[in-house]
Amino acid sequence: MNLILFGAPGVGKGTQSALLVEKLDMRHISTGDLFRNAIKNETELGKKAKEFMDAGNLVPDEVTIGLVEEVLKNLNGQSFILDGFPRTTAQADALDGLLEKIGAPLDRVISFQVPESELVSRLTGRRVCKGCGAVYHIASKPPQQDGVCDVCGKAEVVQRKDDQEDVIKVRLENYENSTRPVKEFYQNKGQFTEIDGTGSADEVFERVQKVLG
Ligand code: ADP
Ligand code: ZN
Repeated sequence: MNLILFGAPGVGKGTQSALLVEKLDMRHISTGDLFRNAIKNETELGKKAKEFMDAGNLVPDEVTIGLVEEVLKNLNGQSFILDGFPRTTAQADALDGLLEKIGAPLDRVISFQVPESELVSRLTGRRVCKGCGAVYHIASKPPQQDGVCDVCGKAEVVQRKDDQEDVIKVRLENYENSTRPVKEFYQNKGQFTEIDGTGSADEVFERVQKVLG
């Protein structure tokens, strides 16, 4: 089963991907995570992506599509979850071609709906572990010890640069302008299901499982 999880920044694509991967043997492909790793490792890709990401803008299509092509080519038949890709209609078009080339049909696009005010509070309160990537929220899911990761024990639970309020505004605008049209692209193909993304991660996961049967 091959999936796309779709929705605005902060809807919970990453959280739901992690829950799916725990249950099913699927590869989680998050372009945001791949870019952040590339930046951490100071690779060419990281250099290309950094200024766009820090400003809350999309990384150019050629760069992003090239990255996803590399990953998809090396899947060797493993099922996948795309998280954060495609984010433009050009990326969606390119993905069609890539999937055809590797003979991996897309089964479903699940889109999460969350009101904008909640997205902003989720994103401004989000904290992440620099060591292992675990995600926290200052109000709803703080680490047990302030600033220390429950999962790996490192004392590096920090705010992402692009989770600052002014950058969040830019990201949400880019979602409206560049990413929302991707929804229509998949709605027209009939592989599209929209679900309510509010409530706890477990409640949302119940809804996801219902969609997938
Ligand atoms: P969110 O979904 O919360 O915005 P991500 O971690 O998915 O967070 O993405 C962080 C940043 O990475 C984006 O703001 C953008 O700069 C870059 N990025 C991720 N995926 C893409 C993509 N498909 N196309 C262009 N840029 C992307
Ligand atoms: Zn950690």
